[in-house]
Amino acid sequence: SQHTDSFKEKLSVALKEKQELAQASDSLKEMKSFREMLPAFKMKSEFLKAVQENQVLVVSGETGCGKTTQLPQFILEEEISCLRGADCNIICTQPRRVSAISVATRISSERGESIGETIGYQIRLESKRSADTRLLFCTTGVLLRQLVQDPDLKGVSHLLVDEIHERGMNEDFLIIILRDLLPRRPDLRLILMSATINADLFSKYFANAPTIHIPGFTYPVAEYFLEDVLEKSRYSIKSDFDNYEGNSRRRSKQQDSKKDPLTEMFEDIDVDTNYKNYSLGVRKSLEAWSGVQIDLGLVEATIEYICRNEGSGAILVFLTGWDEISKLLDKLKGNNLLGDPHKFLILPLHGSMPTANQCEIFDRPPPNKRKIVLATNIAESSITIDDVVYVIDCGKAKETSYDALNKLACLLPSWISKASAHQRRGRAGRVQPGVCYRLYPKLIHEAMPQYQLAEILRTPLQELCLHIKSLRLGTVASFLEKALQPPDPLAVKNAIELLKTVGALDEHEELTPLGRHLCNIPLDPNIGKMLLMGSIFQCLNPALTIAAALAYRNPFVLPINRKEEADAAKQSFAGDSCSDHIALLKAFEGWKDAKRSGNEKQFCWDNFLSPVTLRLIDDMRMQFLNLLSDIGFVDKSRGPNAYNQYSHDLEMVCAILCAGLYPNVVQCKRRGKRTAFYTKEVGKVDIHPASVNAAVHLFPLPYIVYSEKVKTTSIYIRDSTNISDYALLLFGGNLVPSKSGEGIDMLGGYLHFSASKSVIELIRKLRGELDKLLNR
Ligand code: ADP
Ligand code: MG
Repeated sequence: SQHTDSFKEKLSVALKEKQELAQASDSLKEMKSFREMLPAFKMKSEFLKAVQENQVLVVSGETGCGKTTQLPQFILEEEISCLRGADCNIICTQPRRVSAISVATRISSERGESIGETIGYQIRLESKRSADTRLLFCTTGVLLRQLVQDPDLKGVSHLLVDEIHERGMNEDFLIIILRDLLPRRPDLRLILMSATINADLFSKYFANAPTIHIPGFTYPVAEYFLEDVLEKSRYSIKSDFDNYEGNSRRRSKQQDSKKDPLTEMFEDIDVDTNYKNYSLGVRKSLEAWSGVQIDLGLVEATIEYICRNEGSGAILVFLTGWDEISKLLDKLKGNNLLGDPHKFLILPLHGSMPTANQCEIFDRPPPNKRKIVLATNIAESSITIDDVVYVIDCGKAKETSYDALNKLACLLPSWISKASAHQRRGRAGRVQPGVCYRLYPKLIHEAMPQYQLAEILRTPLQELCLHIKSLRLGTVASFLEKALQPPDPLAVKNAIELLKTVGALDEHEELTPLGRHLCNIPLDPNIGKMLLMGSIFQCLNPALTIAAALAYRNPFVLPINRKEEADAAKQSFAGDSCSDHIALLKAFEGWKDAKRSGNEKQFCWDNFLSPVTLRLIDDMRMQFLNLLSDIGFVDKSRGPNAYNQYSHDLEMVCAILCAGLYPNVVQCKRRGKRTAFYTKEVGKVDIHPASVNAAVHLFPLPYIVYSEKVKTTSIYIRDSTNISDYALLLFGGNLVPSKSGEGIDMLGGYLHFSASKSVIELIRKLRGELDKLLNR
C-alpha cells in the first residue's frame, strides 16, 4: 500500500502540472487571439519587409495599436524563425522607467515566459535580463550611457526608439548620435516609433527614410469643454455645484483688489445668467490663464457626475503631478459616494510610483465596481488602459521651461498641445464609444499650440553637455547644431559656463576629474556634486536628504490660511541656522523618528509636512546611495554610520551645501537695520516669503547660497542658507587671483576677497588636496 500511495502522489502531482500547463496554454491562446486583434498585426509582413529593406524606418500609429508590444516582438519572432535567434539583439528604448518595466513584463507574459528570459529590461539601478535575453527594453538614458563604453553599439542588431513624438531631450540627443553612427554600422536597423503623425519631420531628418502608418480603430469620443461641464454639473449635483459657485463668488467679492485668475474667470462667465455665452466672455489668453490652478473640486464634481448619471466604464483623470493626485485621492476618499471602497477602485498612476501595484491598473474590476485612475501624462501615450470610457482632462502637464537670459529654470504646470489633448481624448474610445470632459474652455483649446515644444529647446542643457563630453562628440556647440531643432546658442553657452563654474569642465571645455564622476551620475550636476562632496567629507546623510529634496520637491506644505503657524513650525526646525536646508534636514530627521514610534501622521500634521513627499524623499535617498555605491564613492558594506562623521556638524553641512549650490550665491549687504541681497546675473533679489530667512533682518554671515530663483512679481530666491566666506573660498567654484594681486576673485570678479599671498597660497594647496580626492 505504501507503493500505491507514492504512485498516487506522483500521479496527482503530474496531473496538477498538466492542468497548470493547460491553463497556461489556454491563457496563451487568449493572448494570441488578443494580439491578432491589434491593428499592428495586420501590418506584420509589410513591417518586416520594410525593416529588411531599409536601414531606417519610421512607424506611426494611434496609441494602443500595438507598436510597443508587437513590433519588437515581430522582429524577434522573425529572427528566431529564420534561425538567427542566437545572433539577434534587439533593444527598444522607452522615455520612462515605468513603461520599460510594464511593456517588458507584458511581452513576457504574451510569450508565456518569465521576465528576464528572452525579454528583459534595464533601467537605472535595476535590471532583469540574462544571457538568453534577445529583446531588451531600457530607458533612453540607459542606452545613452551604454554608448560611452560601446560607441558603435556593436552587439545590437535592431534598435527601436519609442515615443519620439514626445520630443524628449534624451531621444532628440540619441537620434543625433544615431544619424552619425548609421554609416559605420550598415547592418544595424533603426526603427523610430511615434504616436502622432508628424512622422515626416523624422523621415526628413534621416534622409527621407520610409514611413509606415498603422491605421488604428477607436470608437467615437464625445467631447465637452468647461462651459458644458459646468452646465452639466449644475443640473446634476446641484448642492455641490452651488457650493462651488458660491465659493468662487465669495472669493471674487473678497479679493477685488488682488484678483486671482480663477476669480476673474468666473466674473467673465457671469455664473448666474448665461452659461452659453460663457466662452464668449472669456477674453483671456493662454498666458494669462497659465497661472490658474486646477480646481480639484470641479474634478471631483465631474467624477461624481459621471458616476451618478453615466453608464459603466473606467474613468481616467489627467492631472499634472503627484501632489494633485494625492490631494484628489484624499478628497475622493472623503466623498459620500466615491469614498465607498466596495463600489469604487481608485488608483493613482505616476512615473515615480513603485511598480508592484501596476497590474491593478490594467485589470478589469468586477462588474459592480468602477475603476477610477488618477494619472499624470504617463497615461497619455506610454500606458494604455483598455477599459477606459470616460476621460477627464485638466489640460495641463508639468513642463520644464528655461529662460536663457535670466538663467531661470522652472518646472511648472502648463497647457498641453492640441496633439496631446487629442491623445488624451482618444484614451476613452478603446472598447466602446466614450466621453471626454475637458475642464478648460473651448477658447483655450483653440489657442493651444499644435505640438509641444521639444524639451531640448526649453530646458537647461548642462546634463546634456556633460553627456556630449563623456561621449567625446566634439565641441558641444557644433554637435548640437546637428539636432532636429538646435537649441538656442545662448542656452548652450550658459550650460558650458555653468559646468566650468561648477568645476566639471576646464577652460578648454574638457572634463575634469569631478566632471568625469558627474557624467556617471544621472542627475543635475549641482546635485551630483553635493552628493560626491557629502560622501568625501563625511556628511553623507545630510547630503542625501537635501539632494533628494532638491531633486524632487520640498516637503513643507504652504497652507494659505495658516501661514503663520506653518512658518513657526519651519522656524523651529531651523533654529538659529538661518537655513531652509537645515530646517528641511531636521524636519526629515524628526519625521524618521516619528515614523519609528508610530507617530507619523500627527507629526506631519503638527509641522505642516507632506508625508507623501517625505516618503518619496526617503526612497530617493536610497536610490542616490545606490548610485554613489555604483560609482565607488560609498562602500555599503561599511554600514549606515560610515561616511557620517560630520553629519551633525552644521558648519560642515553648510559647506557641503555651498559646494553643491555654487554659483547660486547672493551677497548680503547691510542697509541700515536691514539687509539687501544681490546676485551676479540679475542684481537685486528678494528672499521668498516662505523662507525662514524672510524674517531675518541682519545675517550673521556675509553670503547666502540658494537652490532656485523664481520670477513672479519680483525675483525671489527660494530655499536659502547663510554661509561664511570660508565655506565659499574652500568649497565654492573656481578661484582666480585678483588682477591687482591683492586677493582672490570668484564668479568672474563679482566676488572679491582680500587676502595676503600666503593665505592665497594656503587655500590653493587645500583645494589641490581636494582635487586629488576626486582624482581616483
Ligand atoms: P502602442 O505602443 O501602439 O501604444 P501597446 O503595444 O503599448 O500599443 O499596447 C497594445 C495593447 O496591449 C493595448 O491595447 C494595451 O491595452 C495592451 N497592453 C499593453 N500593456 C499591457 C499590460 N501590461 N497589461 C495588459 N494589457 C496591456
Ligand atoms: Mg507604445
